Amino acid sequence: MILSSRAQKVSPSATLQITATAKRMVKEGKDVVAFGAGEPDFDTPEAIKAAAIAAIQSGFTRYTPTSGIPELKDAIVKKLKEDNGLDYTAKNIIVSCGAKHSLYNILQVLVDEGDEVLIPVPYWVSYPEMVKLAGGRSVFVRTTLKENFKVTAQSLQAHASAKTKVLILNSPSNPCGVVYHQKELETIAEFCVRNHIFCISDEIYEKIIFDGIRHVSIASLSEDMKSLTVTVNGFSKSYAMTGWRLGYLAAESEIAQAVSNLQDHSTSNPTSFVQKAALAAFSLDRAFFAEIAEKFQQRRDAIVSRLDRMKQYLGYIRPEGAFYIFVDIKKTGIDSFTFAKRLLEEKHVALIPGGPFGCDDYVRISFATSMEKIKAGLDRIEEWVNQL
Ligand code: PMP
Ligand code: GLU
Repeated sequence: MILSSRAQKVSPSATLQITATAKRMVKEGKDVVAFGAGEPDFDTPEAIKAAAIAAIQSGFTRYTPTSGIPELKDAIVKKLKEDNGLDYTAKNIIVSCGAKHSLYNILQVLVDEGDEVLIPVPYWVSYPEMVKLAGGRSVFVRTTLKENFKVTAQSLQAHASAKTKVLILNSPSNPCGVVYHQKELETIAEFCVRNHIFCISDEIYEKIIFDGIRHVSIASLSEDMKSLTVTVNGFSKSYAMTGWRLGYLAAESEIAQAVSNLQDHSTSNPTSFVQKAALAAFSLDRAFFAEIAEKFQQRRDAIVSRLDRMKQYLGYIRPEGAFYIFVDIKKTGIDSFTFAKRLLEEKHVALIPGGPFGCDDYVRISFATSMEKIKAGLDRIEEWVNQL
């Protein structure tokens, strides 16, 4: 056998594959409406680009400390204090090559062979694959309409065992935009503390939040919870920096040090001049986020009102954050892969099947695209479902 058993266990990322197919079709001149991409459609702000260019030109192109340059770690400490009410010092912060990298690293560091990891369904496609790569076992906690598609302390307790080590929480969430409110997080935090279960809190979409809802970091709820939480965040979504690859985590220093050791022998530091660019990102005016969230909220509203016209065939989970809507396709009687494949072939609309998110009777639409594209794409979807 050429491949290791580890490599054989891993599936490719459906989100990345479909996004690449849609981009290829556009290049071939096809009029594709791309609802697949999990990346903002606006450009990286000029001040961030300028900081990267200045850093390159000043020769800031060498290795940096593995876990990030001190001034960036200090800026992250300040951000976590001001935005999230979290008290950390630089030794708690590890900067990595994207939040995906931070998540991968932390699972390698916390999960032992056979440990169980609680994953709320629907989940972001990469979580179970990363758990597999760490030798762990994903335990899926299904959610229901009645629970607003959120896990509760009761549903988590019902899936916990002596082997449960970690819970992965993602709020606002990909793929359905659910946001956990403070009261809900308080009961989940009590569950974690009571059972001594670590929580990886993926907060990458924290700035894209609607209807005046406030993002709450679960680590801010108590000192006990903070010591069990690893807060993960990054620059991809908030600052439209998906290609730059920069993310970070905040954890107890013993855990952070272990991540740094792992990174020493894998990627070493994240790109030097991208770290300088990230510093510039932190100095952007706060109004920047409000404007972006407002734009995404208008798009959410536009999609929701169009989907309401297709009630006969389609349902949806109303997003409170992020830039995805998870569409219920049960009534069409078509599985999510066939739905996505046929829509792409017959109507040139790219969306992501729900199967890889743990729900084969849903598809994911990303609304990180213009209002014109949203309108055109939904026109095509409406035409298509009406002729089924
Ligand atoms: N978490 C979630 C829920 C995501 O959707 C993404 C999307 N890429 C990431 C983490 C990783 O982001 P990045 O590696 O680009 O920082
Ligand atoms: N997270 C984004 C998505 O879900 C980007 C693609 C990926 O990294 O999987 O579409």
